[in-house]
Amino acid sequence: MSTSAGQREPLTTGDEARSPRPTRHHRVVVVGGGTAGMAVAAKLCRKLRDPDVAIVEPSTYHFFQPQWTLVGGGVMPKENSRREQQRVTPRKATWIRDAVTRFDPADNEVVLAGGERVGYDYLVVAPGLQLNWGDVRGLTADMVGRDGICSNYLYEGCEGTWRTLQEFKGGTAIFTMPPPPIKCAGAPQKIAYLADDHFRRRGVRERTRIVYAAGTPGIFSVKEFAKTLNEVIARKGIETLFSHKLVEIRAAERQAVFERMASGEEVVLDYDMIHITPPQGPPDFVRQSPLADAAGWVNVDKHTLQHPEFPNVFSLGDASSLPTSKTGAAVRKETPVLVHNLMATMRGEDSSRFQRYDGYAGCPLVTGYGRLVFAEFDYDLKPQPSFPFDTTKERWSMYQVKRYGLPALYWRAMMKGF
Ligand code: FAD
Repeated sequence: MSTSAGQREPLTTGDEARSPRPTRHHRVVVVGGGTAGMAVAAKLCRKLRDPDVAIVEPSTYHFFQPQWTLVGGGVMPKENSRREQQRVTPRKATWIRDAVTRFDPADNEVVLAGGERVGYDYLVVAPGLQLNWGDVRGLTADMVGRDGICSNYLYEGCEGTWRTLQEFKGGTAIFTMPPPPIKCAGAPQKIAYLADDHFRRRGVRERTRIVYAAGTPGIFSVKEFAKTLNEVIARKGIETLFSHKLVEIRAAERQAVFERMASGEEVVLDYDMIHITPPQGPPDFVRQSPLADAAGWVNVDKHTLQHPEFPNVFSLGDASSLPTSKTGAAVRKETPVLVHNLMATMRGEDSSRFQRYDGYAGCPLVTGYGRLVFAEFDYDLKPQPSFPFDTTKERWSMYQVKRYGLPALYWRAMMKGF
């Protein structure tokens, strides 16, 4: 089973060819009303004198997913992370409550699940990525929240993580991370650190083995932050299995099967609880479209965010081919570049007038309750700190930034086009 961000209504697959509905047209069509789509739509509505911007988004709710880590850690209820889509849609924009099923960039049209065809002058593609639960044998999304299986990667699942941590009485707790790319590569380990903290507070840590099993060769790709995180892991006594990919869940036996990626050999671990970060990839309708690159992501220039073959098409966020860490923080820096370059294209300017995105991404790595390492870096994996002090250290102040500062920044600035 494959699902995209949060909760969305089941999509009906309309037979587009036989659709009787008329075509409609907008100057700009934004596909996906998540973090990236709404940030772009809000900025365009603020900057364009007479915006004709339509957002295609099937979900009733908009989610601030970074909070799901804190929900899973019991810091807040899940409802804190969502707003009604209508409330975040700019007044000047049109919300088309449907899902795109097909791109026809040669005709400047997208096809909706309901059968309608929507024409555009400019297209922004931001439908996020797809969670591929079924890539792990024996696993489906509806198993999350039962039998010791939990995941912060679903809105409906993250409160179940907190329930699982509260009910845990000791034994083996496993935290998995699939091979990248995934959204927020830090999230799989953040919940392991919160769990360790929680187990200590409850007095069950001494009879608990915590295993962090990741499909990556190390804890983090940027060495300055990896150094601190390795110290955190050593201090907490967390066992690590790197280059190990979860390939099967035997729910009845409470066993997780990993593949050693170098040798293909299988490693079976018993668990009492397991937090699963599902394998992730491009949405099928993107992968199968003329907009996709070889890996299935929306093909864009990594600096200008413009499609190489269709210059009126731009993309950002998790669905894009941008070789950066897929985070909301990255979207915050991609958005002004995309909007600038889109508006330059509207004015007929060439790419010499474009702004360039440097690959900035940010990952607030919660290392416990009240502790956080704020990793910010660029395409070259060079730290790009926004704060005038050493952010490679764990800090209480940075935890407060994640807990209170970033949600305020998100709802009051990013979603309002600032
Ligand atoms: P999304 O926000 O996922 O939005 C995609 C939208 O497209 C959704 O609304 C979806 O309904 C819609 N859509 C899907 N299919 C279609 C279709 N066919 N037609 C139209 N619309 C469609 N980032 C950080 O910066 N910091 C963090 O601490 C952090 N922590 C995270 C923790 C977790 C547990 C998770 C899951 C994510 C975290 N992220 C974090 C990552 C961040 O949330 C994403 O990178 C960000 O939301 C990407 O924005 P997006 O718009 O590309 O995708």
